Amino acid sequence: MIKRLEVQTSSRTQLIDITSQVKAFLRSVAISSGVIVVYVPHTTCGITINENADPSVKEDISAFLSRIIPFDGPYSHAEGNSDAHIKASITGSSVTIIVESGALILGTWQGIFLAEYDGPRKRSILIKVIPG
Ligand code: ZN
Repeated sequence: MIKRLEVQTSSRTQLIDITSQVKAFLRSVAISSGVIVVYVPHTTCGITINENADPSVKEDISAFLSRIIPFDGPYSHAEGNSDAHIKASITGSSVTIIVESGALILGTWQGIFLAEYDGPRKRSILIKVIPG
């Protein structure tokens, strides 16, 4: 009941809608009630839920975070990606979604996004369903 999704990101900062992949995994395990956890084991990307109807929302989120957390600091971390670490902490590394009648309980406009802040990279996303 655990799945590892591999996602190749294509730019340094990017929100990628992974809702359909999460729904496909839920269908494959055939669990009708519980919670599903979507988690990234990385320090420079995150997972978030927000609007997936109007693409300008994800663009606004990325652009706003880059305004308040600029790439060029000043920062102490010598790797050159401190902005990505801070954005990842603000975003969070997981979301939990209620499952009922075999479906994710998401609002009409909600989607699940991988939030890339230090791409392009290959990212792993872990998905686990906990029946209940
Ligand atoms: Zn770093």
